[in-house]
Amino acid sequence: MSDKVIFEKGTQGRKGYTLPKLDVPYKEISSLIPENFIAENEKQLPEVSELDVIRHYSKLASKNFSVDSHLYPLGSCTMKYNPRINEELARLSGFVNIHPYQNEESQQGVMELIYLTEKYLCEIAGMDAFTLQPAAGAHGEYAAILMTRKWFELKNENRNSILVPDSSHGTNPASAAMAGMNVKQISSNENGTVNLEDLANHLDENTACFMMTNPNTLGIFENDIVKIAGMVHEKGGLLYYDGANLNASMGIVRPGDAGFDFVHINVHKTFSTPHGGGGPGAGPVGAKNELVKLLPVPRIVKNGERYAFNYDCPDTIGRMKAFYGNFSVLVKTLAYILTLGRENIKHVSEMAVLNANYMLTKLKTIFDIPYGDSCMHEFVASAVKQKEKGVNAADICKRLLDYGYHAPTVYFPLIVEEALMIEPTETESKETLDGFISAVEAIQAEINDNPEIVTSAPHTMPIKRLDGVAAARKPNLRWTP
Ligand SMILES: *Cc1c(COP(=O)(O)O)cnc(C)c1O
Repeated sequence: MSDKVIFEKGTQGRKGYTLPKLDVPYKEISSLIPENFIAENEKQLPEVSELDVIRHYSKLASKNFSVDSHLYPLGSCTMKYNPRINEELARLSGFVNIHPYQNEESQQGVMELIYLTEKYLCEIAGMDAFTLQPAAGAHGEYAAILMTRKWFELKNENRNSILVPDSSHGTNPASAAMAGMNVKQISSNENGTVNLEDLANHLDENTACFMMTNPNTLGIFENDIVKIAGMVHEKGGLLYYDGANLNASMGIVRPGDAGFDFVHINVHKTFSTPHGGGGPGAGPVGAKNELVKLLPVPRIVKNGERYAFNYDCPDTIGRMKAFYGNFSVLVKTLAYILTLGRENIKHVSEMAVLNANYMLTKLKTIFDIPYGDSCMHEFVASAVKQKEKGVNAADICKRLLDYGYHAPTVYFPLIVEEALMIEPTETESKETLDGFISAVEAIQAEINDNPEIVTSAPHTMPIKRLDGVAAARKPNLRWTP
């Protein structure tokens, strides 16, 4: 990177602040500090002005790819535009300055917000109750598997097998394994959906739960879902819905109606919270009927016009998180739901599916599409043809950066060779989609004429190719003078 780090900028004695002169003798202060807390050497801190700081970080921020600056078709992640008004609402002083230790009487407003959000999510997912505690989708999955364990413990059944399709997101088997269960993989058929025969072969008295994403990670709707639910239930197992792809189907089909017993929803994907920078998300978990008693405590209840927290739930799995979840994310969720209303929530899914199909239809001539002639809100292309010319999916993604597009998800799901998983989202215009399609066409022309320009990409970024393995295995994130 050609730019200097902030430690290399500025000059000795330059400051970005003014404080009144210290009027307590240093000796007196230092005598109050325990010896082991006193620094031996003066710290080497940057000595820069406020303007130096502003320019430095603004410049770094401008190098970033984000939804605000670029199309970000990162499949499965739903990197759509999140309305700014929801940020404003989450920052209202009544929300920001409240403390979770306040008594219930003084926080009726936020309790109403939690209560309403649960109710709306119930309606959208077709569930009977929700907890908003889990902090992300994976955390929701973990909560769900803990509920699964408890469910069978209470029934005195010893089941420890969790089934996942071979197209499943890595967090599904990881959450199941973390909760101490055995994971078994179900193969996909030639349509990219669950192979019913393989499912039947794996279902037995040991099956605790089948975890599914619908539409699945190939962007294909599982048409046999009602039949699958019947098969799993007949063997006494539970059916769990990974709601990461709800952006394709909300307002149109409800997992609860399709036979799912419990779900998580990645509200930071579908319900308007910026994500990708590691910031807080939320993975509310919804449950039907008998499973409701297992949800984490406290449960929020409405007694007449007052809201209260109920901790008296003998069959609960306990707490999943301090207090009541990532509250500001839930404010955005409710704001988004109320702004759109029933009709527009459905319209979001319709537009997401339309945009993805438009892109799929245009890119079909360039990429191999191993599964599905049409798709839901995303599709998975394969760069196998390009690989024959020595260019792989990762090369194409690096070259897309030069054209001003964030890369799609690559090499996932694992069942597609050289996978490029593309999710344009509903918030993108036709012009933006056409721009991306033109960029892919231009890259294809380069692959035909001069593949080296693609395999050595990116050419316009601050850094070129990173050694991906070394960066993951031996990350060096610290600058030392
Ligand atoms: C994103 C995603 C998850 C994990 O969700 P997080 O909120 O990132 O923890 C699980 N399954 C699928 C299909 C996903 O896309």
